[in-house]
Amino acid sequence: MTPRTLTSVLLLAVFLVSCTTSPTGRRQLMLVSEGKAISASKEAYAQTIKPLEEEGKIDNDPVITKRVRDITERLVAQAIRMRPDTANWEWSIKVIDDPDTVNAWAMAGGKMAIYTGLISRLDATDHEIAQVMGHEICHALANHTAEKMSVAMATTVGVLAVGVASDRPGVAMTGAAAAAALAIKLPNSRAAESEADRIGIELAAKAGYDPRAAVTLWEKMGKVSGGGPPQFLSTHPAPDNRRQTLQSLVPQMMPYYQSTEPRPVYKLPE
Ligand SMILES: [Zn+2]
Repeated sequence: MTPRTLTSVLLLAVFLVSCTTSPTGRRQLMLVSEGKAISASKEAYAQTIKPLEEEGKIDNDPVITKRVRDITERLVAQAIRMRPDTANWEWSIKVIDDPDTVNAWAMAGGKMAIYTGLISRLDATDHEIAQVMGHEICHALANHTAEKMSVAMATTVGVLAVGVASDRPGVAMTGAAAAAALAIKLPNSRAAESEADRIGIELAAKAGYDPRAAVTLWEKMGKVSGGGPPQFLSTHPAPDNRRQTLQSLVPQMMPYYQSTEPRPVYKLPE
């Protein structure tokens, strides 16, 4: 085999192993395994939360913290039903006290955060918070973090950006963790957004949250006033006809929402 042929074979092999299929059947570029994305995200999460904790900005309002945790614990129980191997994940949710920031995210492996600004500036109901977190959990379930890390690592811009991914001087991360930290700041593709919308509304309905709140959530998101546009919209670009698509899903979600079966709860660590 000539070196050139060998290179072609190797490239083909890389291509074959690095494309996977998402839950809705879409092909994904995968240069990072999910296991790698999860371990890198664990490090990125710890490094992101620690300085905020030292500044007293994590979980410092017991009422909001309990509200968010109660909702998320019901959603995670449903996520594990949908994807049983995620029972092994170290799921975690933190409330970041930042009244100006309308944002929430989930890293690979179920490491999540929501900013108080999303709740206060949207005047979000429990049902709307459930739609946000359900949507975020689906990004993690569908391996979108690894997909964005792959994009970050596959581009020159990404490689340069990975070096400056941390907002805070003095916070050093390994390359993969930096890519994981960067991944939550990169926009999802519209295909990934549609996937998270579709699965998120179902997860929330099965957890006992009104699917109609998915529609009002995005209406509110589009109307936020004062303090600049929601950060959430820069990382979650709108698929075409998002609200119409969600609206059209409502009838088939209502039976899950109206079910009288008990709603399981997954106890998250403190
Ligand atoms: Zn999204």
